[in-house]
Amino acid sequence: ASELTGSLTAELTGDLTASSGSTTPVIAPFTGETLHELPLSSATDVADAYAAARVAQAAWQAAGHAHRRGVLLRAHDLLLEQRDPILDLLQLETGKTRGQAFEEVFQGASVTRYYAVSARNVLKTRARRGGIPTVVQARVSYQPKGVVGVITPWNYPVSLSLMDVIPALAAGNAVVQKADNQGALSILASRRPFIEAGVPAALWAVVAGPGDEVGNAVVDGADYVCFTGSTATGTKVGERAAARLHGASLELGGKNPLIVLDDANPTKAAAGAANAVVSAMGQLCVSIERIYVQRGIAPAFTDALVARVGSLIQGPALDYTTDIGSLTSQAQLDRVKAQLADAVSKGATVLVGGSERPDLGPYFFEPTVLSGVTEDMACFAEETFGPLVAIHVVDTVDEAVAAANSSEYGLNASIFTGSVQRGRQ
Ligand code: NAD
Repeated sequence: ASELTGSLTAELTGDLTASSGSTTPVIAPFTGETLHELPLSSATDVADAYAAARVAQAAWQAAGHAHRRGVLLRAHDLLLEQRDPILDLLQLETGKTRGQAFEEVFQGASVTRYYAVSARNVLKTRARRGGIPTVVQARVSYQPKGVVGVITPWNYPVSLSLMDVIPALAAGNAVVQKADNQGALSILASRRPFIEAGVPAALWAVVAGPGDEVGNAVVDGADYVCFTGSTATGTKVGERAAARLHGASLELGGKNPLIVLDDANPTKAAAGAANAVVSAMGQLCVSIERIYVQRGIAPAFTDALVARVGSLIQGPALDYTTDIGSLTSQAQLDRVKAQLADAVSKGATVLVGGSERPDLGPYFFEPTVLSGVTEDMACFAEETFGPLVAIHVVDTVDEAVAAANSSEYGLNASIFTGSVQRGRQ
């Protein structure tokens, strides 16, 4: 790891707004060893970042859409050209596979291009019919918020970062971003192509540090907040922004259901379901953790899913030879193991997986398919945020929909069926 990232790590952490003098060790999930010492920001650093961002924002807004479009399109190309060190860092910080790391860079490049090309039209001033026709004239026009505070989790540090930062920049805002400690290097590496393309460094500042100091300071200084993370923290962030009468977008957790109807192709549905369970080892907000399959197709689908999940190649390779990687931390491993042990002790059956793989690395765990999961088990309704999925057999579509909706979460849901019309219905 240090061979790959040694001097790059020092260069990148130099891009952080962090002068507190304290650091924290960041563990590399593939080995359990310290990857680097991350410098931490203070509330004063955050205030300084906001002050500089406000100055940079005025010029960026005045430069107009055509300028911003040119800069972002150049950044799109540079991000793809310079992807190799970003892929290395993404893998070393999160433990995901090269392919899953590439998905992040690809998504980041895609959103960059999308907003570069579409911002002008989306934000164009439009006439609206007035409340009293001919007497009242109405127009809707869009102004930048100013400085947007972006808070990003560790699981998809590049794509979740760029999906919030780039639309903010494309609309003429500045950004002060709090990176999670575990994803800071990936964020800083993916920011570099944007600076090289012409985004002023002060227009997009990155800070790191504890949530109750640095996170709070980012929320307090922002004109608008984009938060991605857990429901517990998002609730606090939403309350804090509301107390200042500032808006916030909160992308939170899920216990995402998949319905498999009896007219689906069982092999194709199982392949799709397997991907949806193991992407980033289930550490994905829209990961599937509950499957409701109609009785007629249940045996064929379950056999195909178990075979598919059991055949995935797992390991720490820094190339494209593996299908699945490692969980990101000891805390993640403990969480998955605890939910599994609870389910098994209350009668759930492990159809495939269920074991740690210390031979591969300290946090490797086999993706696991369960049957017989009941309401008294933690994994029935709580977000696992790991590769643990329960199969439930249902008889009717209504039963499947009611079960899917019976959750405190509402982030995402999916359906496999042979008929698009039936799926929409
Ligand atoms: P988390 O809530 O612990 O942390 C998210 C971010 O918030 C981190 O950068 C963290 O440092 C910061 N933070 C912590 N306390 C804060 C505070 N008081 N004020 C401001 N910021 C604070 O979440 P996590 O464990 O890093 O991420 C996993 C969770 O995120 C899962 O629940 C997952 O479902 C969710 N998630 C949601 C989406 C989505 O788009 N809906 C995407 C990815 C992850």
